[in-house]
Parts: sequence; C-alpha cells; structure tokens
Amino acid sequence: PETITIQELANRMAERGVDVIKLLMRQGQMVKITDVIDADTAQLLAEELGHTVKRIAESDVEEGLFDTPDTDANLVPRPPVVTIMGHVDHGKTSLLDAIRHANVVSGEAGGITQHIGAYQVTAPNGELVTFIDTPGHAAFTAMRARGAKVTDIVVLVVAADDGVMPQTIEAITHARAAGVPLIVAINKIDRPDAKPERVRQELLQYEVQVESLGGETLEVEVSATKKTNLDKLLELISLQAELLNLRADPDRTAEGTVIEARLDRGRGPVASVLVQRGTLHVGDLVVGGSQWGRVRALIDDKGATIESAGPSTPVEILGFSGSPEAGDRVAVVETEARAREITEYRERQKREKAAARGTGARTSLVDMMT
Ligand code: GDP
Ligand code: MG
Repeated sequence: PETITIQELANRMAERGVDVIKLLMRQGQMVKITDVIDADTAQLLAEELGHTVKRIAESDVEEGLFDTPDTDANLVPRPPVVTIMGHVDHGKTSLLDAIRHANVVSGEAGGITQHIGAYQVTAPNGELVTFIDTPGHAAFTAMRARGAKVTDIVVLVVAADDGVMPQTIEAITHARAAGVPLIVAINKIDRPDAKPERVRQELLQYEVQVESLGGETLEVEVSATKKTNLDKLLELISLQAELLNLRADPDRTAEGTVIEARLDRGRGPVASVLVQRGTLHVGDLVVGGSQWGRVRALIDDKGATIESAGPSTPVEILGFSGSPEAGDRVAVVETEARAREITEYRERQKREKAAARGTGARTSLVDMMT
C-alpha cells in the first residue's frame, strides 16, 4: 500500500511534525516522527489540518514519458547495443580496447581518446555497432534494477586457458533474465595452454550450446592481444542484430538511458546517454532522474560536437542542472513546467525512499500537494 512518513507529510504541508503527532495522539495513536502511516490516514490528517489533498500516482506524473510507441511507418534499422561480460581477467577491457583501436581510421585525430561510457564502431558490412564501455555486472544490474534495458546483445568473454568461472555463470544468468542473446567469444586463443574445446563443453553445463556443438549460440575464438578474429566477432554481432530485427523511429522525440555522469569543473554536469528511441537535438528539454535541463551541446564518442543523435547513439549531454545517475532514464519533454513537475516528484520520491529505508518501512508512492 501507499505510505508516507510523518516527517514527510508534515514537510509537504509546511506544518510542524509535532502538530501531526499531536493529532494522531488525540486519536489514540502513539507515533514517532519517523513512523510511516498509510495514505488514507495521511489524507485525513491533512484535511483535518485544513489542506487540500491531491494524490498523484507515479503513473500520472510519468504518464507518456517513457516507452512511448514508435510510428511503424518510420521504422528503420538501428545499430545493436552490445555489452561485454565475463569473468574478471578474461579480457573484457582488452577486447573492448582492441575493437575500438582496430576501428579507428588513421588520421581520425583524437578519435580514441574520448571515454564517454560507450562507443560506436563500423562492422565489416559497413553497419554500426554500439558498445557499452563499462563492462561489469554491477552496471548491468544497476540499470536493469531501474527498469532500463540498454543491451541488445551480450558478448560473453571466456578465457580459453581458464574456462567457465563464477562470473561467467553470473553473466549467463543476467543475460537470460534480461532476455538478451549471447555471443560466446573464447578469448586468449593465442596462449599455448588455450583449451577452447574445453570451454565449449563447460558451457554446455549451463545450457549454452554453441554452433559447433550443434547449438544456436554464435561463437568465435579471439585474441584481444593479437587482435585475432575481431572482424569475425563484429560480423557475428551484425548477424545476431539482423536476427533480432532491431528497428527504431528516428523521427520522434528522444528517450534514452544515462550510462555514466559526472561533474566537470569547466562544463558542469556531463551525462553520457545512450539514445534509444527517436533523435535527440541540441535545444531539447530533457529530464534524467531528478535532474533536467536544456541540451546546450552534444558530443559524440570521437569528441566531435554534433547537432543531433539518433537511435543507439551514445552521446554526451551538456546542459543538465545537476548530475543524473547511471541507469537513470532520460526523456524529452515539451515544457519547463513539465520538466519541473517530473523532477520534483522524483526528488521527493528519493527523499521518501531514504526516509523509508531509515525506518525499515516500505517505499511510499503517495504524493500530496497543499
Ligand atoms: P578484464 O578483467 O576481463 O577486463 O580483463 P583484462 O582485459 O584486464 O585482461 C586481463 C589480463 O589478460 C591482462 O593481463 C591482459 O593483458 C590479458 N589478456 C587479455 N586478452 C588477452 C589475450 O587475448 N591473450 C593473452 N595472452 N592475454 C590476454
Ligand atoms: Mg576490465
């Protein structure tokens, strides 16, 4: 049920907490300021204190903000978004770096120096692939916990000299829970003690059956250090993307997810965002978590200033009032009033969650205005 702490209720009415407590005591209830009460009780109290109550559900405030449908007629293919997962030291970072470097066109000055949390490369077939640059299960889990689905494909890196390890299994579990297909990249194939066949066999125990064993999971043997078969991996990603039939409508307002965010001394809050739907433009009003702002500049993964960013494009946004958090969803809104309504609501929600955690109570969904 919807609940609220007495403190938060008092705050919203601009009343003293002690007056709310007195009222409850008169009704025979012994309470503390940190206690939670249900929404109906809170409403009665507020009305007794002469306030008008407007209860707003999350669905009202955020109505039509996210997951708004694309127009079918406008759908065009979009690049797949790929996350590399696997056990520690199996070569995730090396593989991400190798792919990024191998793809840098000579003369593209500074093209490899930007780290904005994600980057795009061109596959051998000429199509783009977007890599999330923060390998790690924590980021993946954090985003999923916020309802953000950012990844289309997981590349599961397994070191050929080490085989399936605990975080390999964890990655399989994550991908499966998210309904995201795996591509197996057996890494460190250059090592004399590499045993790729053993990796394939071990994966079978976790119901990952690669193609060479008669299964459907795409696989490739790679070496991040020797840059072996990186093109083959990109080809498989394109193939998997085709099977997924990834499409998006670029002719609509943008939605996306914050990949990472930081406060830059010179530029203020900088949010790296993966645009997932529509096209984001300079000048758009955006909300992200409990922050909002007008997009002042967009910077791509090569460090270039751009005017707009379409589906599956990672981009840095300048112009947020404060730093949103990784995993926060971003959407374009029409008016500043709407931006304020949403972010203020979320700010209150955050406060309440913190308060509820303090008292071990459940999170409140009730929102009251006086
Ligand atoms: P991560 O923890 O999964 O990100 O793994 P890293 O990319 O940091 O790699 C861990 C270690 O494995 C480093 O010492 C790398 O140099 C080494 N490594 C990564 N890929 C390869 C490879 O293809 N071949 C060999 N021989 N070593 C590799
Ligand atoms: Mg690493």
